[in-house]
Amino acid sequence: MFMCRDLVENIMDYIDNELDLKTLEELEKHAGECPECRAFVDTYKKMLELAGKLKDSSFVTPEIRNRLKTLLKSKIKPS
Ligand SMILES: [Zn+2]
Repeated sequence: MFMCRDLVENIMDYIDNELDLKTLEELEKHAGECPECRAFVDTYKKMLELAGKLKDSSFVTPEIRNRLKTLLKSKIKPS
């Protein structure tokens, strides 16, 4: 079953459109049913849009992505 931590795990690939169809469907289904994850996806997208406006897309380096991922993981605790 798709959990909040799976969403966090896959958010980068989701934003990059690199998820396979099955994972994409499960992620969107979960986001549709889970207000926290929906807010999380929205916030994340806005954040990247903002970063894209401030600098070019190379602003979001793999290092920044990893840091972000660690931060996000620490916010969603596995139940
Ligand atoms: Zn969730």
